[in-house]
Amino acid sequence: MSSGIIVLGAGLAGLSAAHHLGGECEVFEREEYIGGHCRTKRVEGFNFDEGAHVFFGKDDCSREFVLDPLNQELIHHRAEIWNNYGDRRYGRYPVQANANALPADLSARCVLDFIEAVRQPDQEVLNYADWCYATLGKTFAEQFLLRYARKVWTVEPDELNTDWVASKVGGRISRPSLEQVIRGAIDPNPQELNYLTGFCYPASGGFGRIVDPLASGTTNVRLGCGVVGIEAEARRITFSDGTVRHYVAAISTIPLPTLVQLTVDAPAEVREAAACLMWTSVRCVNLGVARPGVGPGHWVYFYDRDIPFFRVSFPSKFASANAPAGCSSISCEIAYSRRKPLDVNGLVGRTVDALKHTGLLLESDTIVLEDVIDIPYAYVVFDFNREPSLRIIHSWMEEVAIYPCGRFGEWGYHWSFEAIGSGQRVARRVADRLEIGAGSTEIRYAEGQRLYSGS
Ligand SMILES: Cc1cc2nc3c(=O)[nH]c(=O)nc-3n(C[C@H](O)[C@H](O)[C@H](O)COP(=O)(O)OP(=O)(O)OC[C@H]3O[C@@H](n4cnc5c(N)ncnc54)[C@H](O)[C@@H]3O)c2cc1C
Repeated sequence: MSSGIIVLGAGLAGLSAAHHLGGECEVFEREEYIGGHCRTKRVEGFNFDEGAHVFFGKDDCSREFVLDPLNQELIHHRAEIWNNYGDRRYGRYPVQANANALPADLSARCVLDFIEAVRQPDQEVLNYADWCYATLGKTFAEQFLLRYARKVWTVEPDELNTDWVASKVGGRISRPSLEQVIRGAIDPNPQELNYLTGFCYPASGGFGRIVDPLASGTTNVRLGCGVVGIEAEARRITFSDGTVRHYVAAISTIPLPTLVQLTVDAPAEVREAAACLMWTSVRCVNLGVARPGVGPGHWVYFYDRDIPFFRVSFPSKFASANAPAGCSSISCEIAYSRRKPLDVNGLVGRTVDALKHTGLLLESDTIVLEDVIDIPYAYVVFDFNREPSLRIIHSWMEEVAIYPCGRFGEWGYHWSFEAIGSGQRVARRVADRLEIGAGSTEIRYAEGQRLYSGS
C-alpha cells in the first residue's frame, strides 16, 4: 500500500519535504528536471541560473544540505554590489551608505533630507512608501527606493506593506546611522551595510549544484509528470501522463494561484482570494561576450525608468566555469506582471542597447550567445491583499489535506535555504497530523480525520 503522501514539485521545498518524510511519499514534478527555480541552464558552454542566485544561508538546513556536503566545491566571495546612477555613473550599494558616488548636489540633498527624517518624531507608517520617507528621507526615498520598488514590484510603493522589509535573515533594506550616511557621502571607501556581505557559489555546474545533496537522497521523483487536476473532496490528483493518485496528504510547492486553478472543486471564496494574489514575473536576457572580466562587480541595480532591467549580474564572476575561457556572461533581469505587461518584441536588442548606453558593453564587444529564460513566478508582491487572501486559501487547503509550502506555497520571500526549511516544517506537520505506524508505510489520519487509502 502506498503511504498516501504526495509531494507536488521537486524544487528545494519539495525535495526537502520528501527527505524529511524519510522517503514515505511520492514526488511528482512537471518539468523534466529537478531544482525548480534553483536549476542552472547550460547553453553552449555558458551556465545561466534563473536570475542572480547566490548562497548565503547559515542556518542548520544550510549547513546540513548545502555547506557541509558541497564544502570544497564552493567558492566563497565577498559580495561586490553596485548601483547605476544613470548613464555610466556607478557607486557601491547601498546608496544610503555610499552617496559619495552621486553628483554633489544630489548627495547633499540626500544627506540633508536624511537628517530631516531622523529629526522627525515617530510617525505612523502605513505602507512601504511611508516607511521609505520616514526611514531614509525624501531624496533617498524618491530617487532610489521608490523608483526601484516600481521597477521590481510593478506597483505603486504605497500599495505595499512593510512585512517583507525586515526578514529573519536580516533587514532587506538597511537604515544607516547618521554617521554612516555622512561618512558615505564623503568617503569613497565602500561601506557594507547589507544582509548579504558575503556569499558562496559552486565552483562548477552553476547554482543548480546546491540541489544535488538533497536530490541524491530522493529516489521517488517522477519527472515530466505535472498535476493537471485536483479533486479536493475526493482527495484525488490527476497527472499529465494519466496517472491518478488518491492522497491522505498532498504537500504542494505549486504556486498558489495555479494550485487553486487546478483544484476543480475549490470554493468561489478561495478562487476569489487567489485572484487577488499579486506577483511579478522576470524575463532574463542572458548574453555571452567574447571579453573576460565584464562588469564592475557581482551585480548592479538600476533605478532609471528608461532602462529595461532592474538588475544585471555577471555569472562568470560567480564562478569562472560559468563561461568558456576568455568570455564573460551577463544576465539582465526584467520584471513584468499583469499590472505592467512586457513587450517581448525586440527585447534582446533593447537590452543590448541599454547595456551599451550604461557602459557595461562596449561597441567593440562581440556577443557570442543570446539566450532568454522566462520566470513566470519570480517575486511575491507584499500588497495589502496578500494576508487576508492567504488566510482564506491556506485554511481551506488545510481542510482538504493540501499543505502548501515553499516560496510560492507559503507565498513569501523565501531564499533557497528558507525553502529547504519550509519543506522540513511541512513534513513535520504532516507527520504529526498523520499517525505513521512505526516500521510500516501505513498511514492513518489522527482522530477525527477521514481515511483514504492510497491507490
Ligand atoms: C529571480 C530570483 C532570484 C533569486 N535569488 C536567490 C538568491 O540569490 N539566493 C537564494 O538563496 N535564493 C534566491 N531565490 C529564491 C529561490 O530560488 C527560491 O527560494 C527557491 O528556489 C524556492 O524553492 P521552492 O521549492 O519553494 O519553489 P520552486 O523552486 O518554484 O519549486 C516548485 C516546483 O514545482 C513544480 N511545479 C509547478 N507546477 C507544477 C505542477 N502543475 N505539477 C507538478 N509540479 C509543478 C515546478 O516545476 C518546480 O520545480 C531567487 C528567486 C528568484 C525567482
